[in-house]
Amino acid sequence: ASAAKEAAASANSAAPTIFDKIIAKEIPSTIVYEDEKVLAFRDVNPQAPVHILLIPKARDGLTQLSKAEFRHSEILGDLLYTAKLVAEKEGLKDGFRVVINDGLDGCQSVYHLHLHLLGGRQLKWPPG
Ligand code: ADP
Repeated sequence: ASAAKEAAASANSAAPTIFDKIIAKEIPSTIVYEDEKVLAFRDVNPQAPVHILLIPKARDGLTQLSKAEFRHSEILGDLLYTAKLVAEKEGLKDGFRVVINDGLDGCQSVYHLHLHLLGGRQLKWPPG
């Protein structure tokens, strides 16, 4: 939680994040889906057998869900629908979970909005 605290404290809409380097393919990642607007890749620190992040390629001020404006509605819908497509592609026929961590209380550490797609085992509820 202290790492999340630091990330939240230093979050600002101008600073690039590690996801920019992933989008630019400057650092390696395992990409599972890509189109003009959305990129999906495997989380480096998986919390379930399947753990994929879905991000907008253009952050456009969308550092976190609480900063969303009406113009982001379309990309937010695209991300959610793409999560469904990727879940299907990953064979998650018994279900899955989609999570967006927001800010300090959400333990968000990367300030480029992303959806976590988790599956491949039965997940616990509630989260810690
Ligand atoms: P948290 O770190 O608390 O899960 P976030 O919701 O901001 O907070 O999630 C950021 C996610 O990005 C983490 O699950 C982390 O493992 C993942 N991540 C960080 N760097 C990379 C990377 N280079 N490639 C893939 N995933 C990454």
